[in-house]
Amino acid sequence: MPHAVTLIPGDGTGPEITEATRRVLEATGVKFVWDVRRAGAEMLEKYGTVLPDDVIESIKRTKVGLKGPITTPVGRGQRSANVTLRKKLDLYANLRPAKTYPGLRSRYENIDLIIVRENTEDLYAGIEFQRGTPEHEEILEVISRCTSHQLDSNSALSVKYITVAATRRIVRFAFEYARANGRRKVTAVHKANIMRLSDGLFLATAHEVAKEFSDIQFEDRIVDNMCMQLVQKPELYDVLVLPNLYGDIISDLSAGLIGGLGVAPGANIGSQCAVFEPVHGSAPKYAGQNKVNPMAMMFSGVMMLRHLGEREAAHRLERALTHIIAEGKYVTYDLKPRPDDPTSVGTSQVADAVIERLHR
Ligand code: NAD
Repeated sequence: MPHAVTLIPGDGTGPEITEATRRVLEATGVKFVWDVRRAGAEMLEKYGTVLPDDVIESIKRTKVGLKGPITTPVGRGQRSANVTLRKKLDLYANLRPAKTYPGLRSRYENIDLIIVRENTEDLYAGIEFQRGTPEHEEILEVISRCTSHQLDSNSALSVKYITVAATRRIVRFAFEYARANGRRKVTAVHKANIMRLSDGLFLATAHEVAKEFSDIQFEDRIVDNMCMQLVQKPELYDVLVLPNLYGDIISDLSAGLIGGLGVAPGANIGSQCAVFEPVHGSAPKYAGQNKVNPMAMMFSGVMMLRHLGEREAAHRLERALTHIIAEGKYVTYDLKPRPDDPTSVGTSQVADAVIERLHR
């Protein structure tokens, strides 16, 4: 039976890397029925939204999405399509592995981290108050009444929202992932020394859940210390579980540890559906240039194959990708010693090389 998958090319460099990824996935021999759905900048002009409802409906039907990045205009009040998608489908776990492969230009060897980021709340909950609005005034009044703080009206507010239910769910996900994948330790990352109530709740809940998993070690780290520790001794860490914002930042940091965003994959997983996408964004300055690295999306495709139960095809595609990386010949500029290396190849040539390898 072919697998029905919703394919969202996204915008910027998204369509190029999506096409390259679709080609290599088909070259594994696994059969797909792609339901291609448009989201991103061009939809905003046509339909007034970057995420039309048919995208959500399609994923609800197929249960699986493969997605290119989508641009979010900074500070213009338009909600991110990525955040909206994750919230509407309740894709509560953002799984971002960071693994070094021979041939990657990294300062480290043998990194094998799993970042589990909570995907639905925290400062990403989308509860914000704009200065000069009646709601903003009202909220300042409430804050002044309920606390000792008189806030400046020339301000803006974003709410950090952490619940016991979402924390339990994400920490359980991290432990279950650790157990299912032979991992030894889960580290909860927080800033509970300063955000004593919100991050304090996250930490206390994580400790509670950890008691259910006595076979897996558990510890916690303050997020700033975690950044330093990851740079100094990443080999001490295994599975990290974090609230949304820290998870976003630490997963980019981890992508930097393994050789850059060009090879960092991700998955957004809920109880009903899953959407696979690279960690990186739409890199719009390179759009249409056949330049950026499609491997982060191809590795996301490997994760999708595993999710679909196609373990053997996933293994073959991962092996083909690691071979191309180790060989260092058919790779994009970001994997070369210098970005202006004249031997770098383009996005579609990487796909050709991976397909050639798969067919050997
Ligand atoms: P970005 O990840 O798009 O790019 C940052 C830089 O990283 C690029 O300029 C490029 O030098 C490098 N890079 C990124 N992807 C690469 C690849 N595949 N190959 C080689 N080099 C690559 O981050 P940004 O510039 O901060 O964001 C651009 C837009 O993407 C923003 O609108 C942002 O909101 C959006 N974004 C979307 C997603 C998503 O769709 N899930 C994720 C992050 C950012």
